[in-house]
Amino acid sequence: MSKININKSWKYDESLESTSHIKLKDKYDLFIGGEFVKPLSKKYFNTLNPATNQSIAEIADANDKDIDKAVKSARKAFNSWSKLDPKERGKYIFRIARMIQERAKEFAVIESIDGGKPIRESRDIDIPLAANHFFYHAGWADKLEYAFPNKKPTPLGVAGQIIPWNFPLLMAAWKIAPAIACGNTVVLKPAESTSLTALKLAELIQDSGLPKGVVNIVTGAGKTGAAIVNHPDINKIAFTGSTEVGKLIERSLAGIEKKTTLELGGKGANIIFEDAAIDQAVEGIVNAIFFNQGHVCCAGSRLFIQESVADIVIEKLKDRISTLIVGDPLDKNTDIGAINSVEQLKTIEKYIEIGKKEGGEIYQSKCSLPKKGNWCPPTLFLNVSQSHTIVQEEIFGPVLAIQTFRTIDEVIEKANNTPFGLSAGVWTEKGSKIFRLTKELNAGVVWANTYNKFDPSSPFGGFKESGMGREGGLHGLKSYLKFE
Ligand code: NAP
Ligand code: MG
Repeated sequence: MSKININKSWKYDESLESTSHIKLKDKYDLFIGGEFVKPLSKKYFNTLNPATNQSIAEIADANDKDIDKAVKSARKAFNSWSKLDPKERGKYIFRIARMIQERAKEFAVIESIDGGKPIRESRDIDIPLAANHFFYHAGWADKLEYAFPNKKPTPLGVAGQIIPWNFPLLMAAWKIAPAIACGNTVVLKPAESTSLTALKLAELIQDSGLPKGVVNIVTGAGKTGAAIVNHPDINKIAFTGSTEVGKLIERSLAGIEKKTTLELGGKGANIIFEDAAIDQAVEGIVNAIFFNQGHVCCAGSRLFIQESVADIVIEKLKDRISTLIVGDPLDKNTDIGAINSVEQLKTIEKYIEIGKKEGGEIYQSKCSLPKKGNWCPPTLFLNVSQSHTIVQEEIFGPVLAIQTFRTIDEVIEKANNTPFGLSAGVWTEKGSKIFRLTKELNAGVVWANTYNKFDPSSPFGGFKESGMGREGGLHGLKSYLKFE
């Protein structure tokens, strides 16, 4: 085997993104009925910058009464929005998409400050994809009869939408765009630690002239989310978050006539065959697990390498992760930003300890970490098997569990041996292997010779404990409509 030589002695100069163009208020109220209104709860909480753990702004903490007010505003708006000429609905949504593009730089910086993700990712992935979701669904607004021929699609009513902290603006776009394109109105709650870009989106929506009450954005923690789930005048719940909370939601909605979609956790298998292009596969492994600090539901957090190439892949992977830069999310050189919260860092560290205790062999990059803030170096675990906790449970951080396999049957069985079924990756030169795996892997999305590719026209969602329903594409539209 040839030895790999990487010059690790040089460093990049700092290349900080400017923050002079962003406008943030010290305090954010609730966006209800097209206005920012003080919470009836009279309570606020702080949103922190995870790279420093300093407060950025105060955010309103909505209680049951605030949610009731938001639902009433959405219900009132539904009467006219659902009857508006769909072509006009489409125009508003196109306008929102274009305005996101115009303000993309501001959104990208705020996303990185509030959530910790590298500016390269917010700038090149999160914000453009959020705009794309609005563009795509704007196009469908007046074509629903063609999308579902002879079915007379009509909107459901008021949608309650709850989203997590890993892709704050993008998840808001995934939820709002299809709902309003189909003629529904919404009450959306972003995650407690990353509400700022949703609130900036509220400002943008206000500027866009969208009729008041079509989109309401309410902030708060889990209790606020539960108030949305349990409100009697909501017709549909769309939830993205953990399997644990997804199960709670499903329990509380059992027997109640509310349409539900759940996008939950995952433990994606990334499978490298001996005939794969090894260098590309190594890049794919890095992207699959270290993108967005590994805070990705469809992360390739379980790596399976065919035994004959395991040594070379692992050696190349170790070398590659030693070049990853962990640090300031606003630095354009940063590959891995800040862990989203102190709590999430503790969870990741707990899993690393469990991995070691259960006999896993740990390899961590020796990269330097900033003094303040929440950081975790890229971490690999070798010598683990199917029964290890870190192979079974979602960690939601930059930690990869590595196993090997000999045959295609073996790897299919191992990959499917998990309660989740969200995503998988396959790296091989053989089309026949790709077809077999895409058929036999129990995962909502299987990427071949790539990973973490998203497009608004492509449905996304899971099997088993990864949830039910799909977002994106025609499948996503369908869950915001009823048919006569
Ligand atoms: P989480 O704790 O389940 O929270 C998700 C959202 O639900 C947040 O807005 C949260 O509010 C709220 N919430 C908490 N308790 C609630 C309750 N009892 N009733 C209603 N809402 C409640 O998940 P997370 O830690 O934010 O996100 C990470 C999880 O999301 C991971 O498991 C990941 O795999 C999953 N995820 C899935 C997808 C997908 O498409 N399948 C995409 C992204 C993430 P607060 O945060 O304010 O407490
Ligand atoms: Mg924050």
